[in-house]
Amino acid sequence: MDEFPQEPDRWTIGDTTLTAIVEAETPGIPVELFFPEATASDVIDAGPLPEGAVGSDGTISFRVQSFVIQHRGRLIVVDPCVGNHKSRLLPFWDHQDWPWMSRFTGAGFDPDQVDLVVHTHLHEDHIGWDTHLVDGSWLPTFTNARHVYVGDELDWAASEDRRSQQDSFGDSIAPVLDAGLGWEVDSGAVLGDGLFLMPTPGHTPGHASLVVETSTEPLIVTGDLLHHPFQFATPALAEIGDVDPARARNTRCGFFDEYSRSGTLIAGTHFPAVPLGRIEAASGAWRFRPENPSPRSERPDR
Ligand SMILES: [Zn+2]
Ligand SMILES: [Zn+2]
Repeated sequence: MDEFPQEPDRWTIGDTTLTAIVEAETPGIPVELFFPEATASDVIDAGPLPEGAVGSDGTISFRVQSFVIQHRGRLIVVDPCVGNHKSRLLPFWDHQDWPWMSRFTGAGFDPDQVDLVVHTHLHEDHIGWDTHLVDGSWLPTFTNARHVYVGDELDWAASEDRRSQQDSFGDSIAPVLDAGLGWEVDSGAVLGDGLFLMPTPGHTPGHASLVVETSTEPLIVTGDLLHHPFQFATPALAEIGDVDPARARNTRCGFFDEYSRSGTLIAGTHFPAVPLGRIEAASGAWRFRPENPSPRSERPDR
């Protein structure tokens, strides 16, 4: 397990605050592990990337994190990571014991105060902390929150095929639905208070990104529309989890084109090092311009 002891990074965007609560950041991953068609030179040639996002040998760092958004008096958790003690196929996600919750509470957040949990999609690394193990049972963690699920995505996650591989639906989604905390919507749903979903399908059938209208500019949380900032230079490369690679590629290219033109602020759900930034056009493709977090000395007391 990696150590990630530092205080969480925060950004203030107008009247909205974004905090990155990291579960794990792993450097030195061969790029082929996540992108089978990629090579180390694709990573090295992708241009300047935030320090720590890639190794000089063309390996990548991969982060699993949640974004916690304070917006118009609401506390929103986006994509609550893998979670602890879950039985998972991937060895590095199986039966883990990460200090995610102590980072969440250490950042000044209380699980009982969460109003909304948004899932960009229902892969196991985006739903884990929705439940926790108590005396052998999986219980909801955010007991006063509405948990947003795209209907198409729920159908996919609940399918026999998915559940026969590993039952993340049973341990991380069903207990939330059984407790009456689920809110089923479509992938373009308006969630109120300047929050809405935007369909970004391909990685999974009902994948959606979250748009937050802050007082100064919009912010888009991408989810797994892309996984690493080197992909701005190589948007055609499929990621190993893409359920429909061709559709995912079309979605990515269209997104990069549109939001590089508008200079919209985006938060990359798996981006290491500095996850917030903007997309810029660059010699036939795109690149990432990171936005550094607010200096700690300028932050309000937590
Ligand atoms: Zn995914
Ligand atoms: Zn993911």
